[in-house]
Amino acid sequence: MAKRLESPSSINTFKQCKRKYYYQYIEKLPTSSSIHLVRGNIAHSVLEDFYDINIADFNEENYQLKFKEAIQKLLLYQWNKYKSGLDELELSPDQITFYFEETMFMLMNWCNQFLEEFDRMRKEKDISMGETFMKLTPIRELQYKSEEHHVRGFIDAIQHTENEVHIIDYKTNAKFDFKQSIKLQLAIYSMMYYEKHGKMPNKVGIFFLRQKLRMMDVDMNLIEMAKKEITEVHEHTSSCEHAHEYPRTITPLCKWRTGECNFYAVCKPKETNEEQERMIFEEKNRTSEKIEIKENKSKLSAFF
Ligand code: SF4
Repeated sequence: MAKRLESPSSINTFKQCKRKYYYQYIEKLPTSSSIHLVRGNIAHSVLEDFYDINIADFNEENYQLKFKEAIQKLLLYQWNKYKSGLDELELSPDQITFYFEETMFMLMNWCNQFLEEFDRMRKEKDISMGETFMKLTPIRELQYKSEEHHVRGFIDAIQHTENEVHIIDYKTNAKFDFKQSIKLQLAIYSMMYYEKHGKMPNKVGIFFLRQKLRMMDVDMNLIEMAKKEITEVHEHTSSCEHAHEYPRTITPLCKWRTGECNFYAVCKPKETNEEQERMIFEEKNRTSEKIEIKENKSKLSAFF
């Protein structure tokens, strides 16, 4: 089988639960949306558009207010743009208000830290507002693809400072935590950047929108870790195509107090046993082999 094109999220899904990977990326079963998904997309779109605002009428007296106003307007605009996606979730008006306000809080938190950086840079370099804004504007939503490792992904922001390159991803996660799946995502970005530009980014990190930016250094170990994990996924997925070859990993991520895995109903993690499933599959195979032999025999006897 040919290698599949993976992404940081497909690789993390595989690591979390191979069966989930099978349902999502091989069977391609439909997945349902959630407020966290839609709200994440809205916040990403706001931050992507933020650097396109026109700051021609910003001055010493009003620039702080103007930047904050701009982000509020962008959030309103994107919230309306995603209205049909939000309506599909059938949230109550109170829930919608709660998530809107929470998203506003995260974006204002980000904006306050942007303003600190803006002021620090202007003071340090003694440059105009326009020049500072330009210098702080990252390359946004760029797709990277590794032909060698069959993986691709969109990088939220690539920031060039005077001597360094920083790769940043935005997250609305509640936890300010570099968990393993995040480290792997950043390692894959670093690997793809290295492959394309022939040099490593200096740092990679997450802007946790509820808190702050958290960065880590990039080294060859991180890049090698990405290669090893990607290779493991390719080795499995290019030789296995049946559900029973993708075992379930039953954890609290199957079902929790307020939700469940997208594939809980089809997976039935509590009812089906892996061994039973393998036997059913083998029995099916044996039956189809027997039918094939019978058909061949009757073709041969008709011939003679
Ligand atoms: S319900 Fe649990 S075991 Fe089944 S696919 Fe989802 S995460 Fe995996």
